[in-house]
Amino acid sequence: ASFQDFNLNKQLLSAVEELNYEVPTEIQQKAIPVIQGGHDVLGIAQTGTGKTAAYLLPILMKVKYAQGMHPRALILAPTRELAMQIDESISQLAKYTDLRHVAVYGGIGPKTQIETIQKGVDILVATPGRLMDIYLKGELVLKELKTLVLDEADKMMDMGFMPQIRRLLEIIPNKRQNLLFSATFPEKVERLSDEFLEFPTKVEV
Ligand code: AMP
Repeated sequence: ASFQDFNLNKQLLSAVEELNYEVPTEIQQKAIPVIQGGHDVLGIAQTGTGKTAAYLLPILMKVKYAQGMHPRALILAPTRELAMQIDESISQLAKYTDLRHVAVYGGIGPKTQIETIQKGVDILVATPGRLMDIYLKGELVLKELKTLVLDEADKMMDMGFMPQIRRLLEIIPNKRQNLLFSATFPEKVERLSDEFLEFPTKVEV
């Protein structure tokens, strides 16, 4: 298998090559075609398996870069550290595109984050609390979302983010693609996936 087998544009293939990703990892081989097929995905994969690029590459193909003002993809992460890492992966993979992205998280003031959002964002990475703060200030439009990712969903449940996630699901468009990634698959994640995913394809490594 090779990255050429996926429907990726040359900007993304150049970035993948520059990162020295020679072959897709197992989760990438299994998940990328399913995500590109438009299905909801339940991905059971630990950190270190290449799960981030497994969902980012199809999102980077789907999102039209630098078009419109409001995010079309939202990636939720339980911690500031993970949100920053995901945003860094987007910077690397989207290096040869004009895609606009930002991570919003707590621990610092929201001012700079809001200013970045106001300039127009294609992909937003967020922790749930800060996301809702900015939304409730009226500084974020979520009605153009087409893709929602919950990364480290098990940790998200452990940290008590379920109420914020439920609230978010009431705000955002119903017609969207949902991707849920979790390192483990306990009952609480199974319940979340029942609530959140529609006819998901389960991919496991
Ligand atoms: P993740 O599981 O997404 O946290 O990724 C773990 C590490 O693997 C990151 O440092 C990625 O840059 C790297 N990585 C992702 N995909 C590949 C690949 N196909 N080949 C080599 N390294 C990769």
